Amino acid sequence: MNQARVRRLNDAPIDRTADYVLYWMQSARRLRSNHALDYALRCSRELGKPLVVYEGLRLDYPWASARISSFVIEGMAANATRAHTLGINYWPFVETSEASAWGLLRKVAARACLVVTDDFPCFILPEQTAKLAREPRAFFAIDNNGVIPLALLGTAPFAAAHLRRRMHNLFESAWAERSRVKPRFDEVSNARVEPPFALTDLTNVSALVGALPIDQSVLRLPNKPGGARAGAKQLELFLRNGLSIYADHRGEPAPPEELHGSGLSPYLHFGHLAIEDVLGAVLGKVEKAGGRTTPDRSNVAKRQGFYTDDPNANAFLDEALTWRDVGFVWHWTRRADTANLKRALPPWAYKTLEKHASDRRLYTYSMDAWESAATHDEIWNAAQRELLATGVIHNYMRMLWGKKVLEWSPTPETAYQTLVHLNNKYAVDGRNPNSYTGILWCFGLFDRPWAPERPVFGQVRYMSSENTAKKFKLRGYLDWVRALAR
Ligand SMILES: Cc1cc2nc3c(=O)[nH]c(=O)nc-3n(C[C@H](O)[C@H](O)[C@H](O)COP(=O)(O)OP(=O)(O)OC[C@H]3O[C@@H](n4cnc5c(N)ncnc54)[C@H](O)[C@@H]3O)c2cc1C
Repeated sequence: MNQARVRRLNDAPIDRTADYVLYWMQSARRLRSNHALDYALRCSRELGKPLVVYEGLRLDYPWASARISSFVIEGMAANATRAHTLGINYWPFVETSEASAWGLLRKVAARACLVVTDDFPCFILPEQTAKLAREPRAFFAIDNNGVIPLALLGTAPFAAAHLRRRMHNLFESAWAERSRVKPRFDEVSNARVEPPFALTDLTNVSALVGALPIDQSVLRLPNKPGGARAGAKQLELFLRNGLSIYADHRGEPAPPEELHGSGLSPYLHFGHLAIEDVLGAVLGKVEKAGGRTTPDRSNVAKRQGFYTDDPNANAFLDEALTWRDVGFVWHWTRRADTANLKRALPPWAYKTLEKHASDRRLYTYSMDAWESAATHDEIWNAAQRELLATGVIHNYMRMLWGKKVLEWSPTPETAYQTLVHLNNKYAVDGRNPNSYTGILWCFGLFDRPWAPERPVFGQVRYMSSENTAKKFKLRGYLDWVRALAR
């Protein structure tokens, strides 16, 4: 493993007399293609101690809801089944009104020689990781986020183009050091350990989630279950029916069944799918069709032609690698700056929005109106209804959705807070680095000034529902959204 993925979080010594090596699975919630799991297994082999995988879910995470908890717990149920087949010590724990999580992880860590976890740069994960690092246990965080270790990718990019060159230059060596599709469990790693708490019974996810004191109004998505198997199925579906139309149709709003986009972001967000597996599967498909699957260095820094000569696969990989990592690298180096627009935005964008902050807004809405899709604009309402019903918004509609909240909010700062709330509350892929940078893109991040200067937006790129309606045949998308509401 590239050592750039490893961060030692404290000076506590490794306790060779303790019971096991603990892998606290936080963001790469899967039992394959997982750098942290590989690292923990290596420690288990070196120390001659069993491995324990602990996967938990608290009650009090921000925007806790039936939707998000179901997706996570479905993933845990899939992991439990897989762990059973592999014969490993997998300890799932879902906090409930009766079973408190208070002190549990500390108790589990206290018996460990060392603790390994995922190094995820967003949401509550950095804080809860830092908290456990205060315990007297050697603690290692492993960057499991992308194909290339984030520490090698340098400073926060100003634009995707800046990162693309760096990524292309580092790609081949990083790909050679990818994680193991089948991690090496053995008799030592799998030696049985008795858990010090009652493992959660995951057989009836809907009953378990239904009894949790969390927001039950954000509904579970029965057609979009979480978990490694469900993620693999979505990937298969995309490879079969979506990849060959990706370059031409990705930007065109359509119902998700038409696969104008892979639909993989929720699975990537929770780590039910590894980006390395996605890349491997896409290149595998290209190879089968006789295409090139080794990088072409004459296309370094270009959007097309680097990874492969298949334009659809290349366009997809540019999104899934370059664009996805733009958000991760930005968070890796500037996470604290998401607190407000002044810190987050490039100076030109902040200045122009501030100059137009007191411009008259033609419309403004309360949070209730936003949430219930009750604006004057049917196209915006459709995007919001898609979010409410399916937990995602088609990529193009998501940009328009964000831009309109900026236009119809009393100030840019209120618009930012509204978007963070809506996105993180309802989107299954929310609470991710790309949630914040995606929203901030609507305010000018990773973009450039545009003419003409307009009310409210100033020089920030403008988008309108009228142009969207002219640019695309929206009828299919709008009819589909209307049917969702029935
Ligand atoms: C206002 C707004 C909010 C957003 N919130 C989120 C969010 O909460 N979580 C999230 O993962 N993405 C977010 N994005 C980025 C993008 O919209 C989604 O990643 C994409 O629509 C997911 O659909 P897909 O998996 O079908 O994408 P595909 O087109 O199939 O792309 C494959 C993968 O590449 C990555 N990707 C694609 N486009 C982008 C992009 N523009 N920026 C970063 N990564 C990208 C995603 O991981 C995606 O799953 C947001 C964008 C905007 C404008």
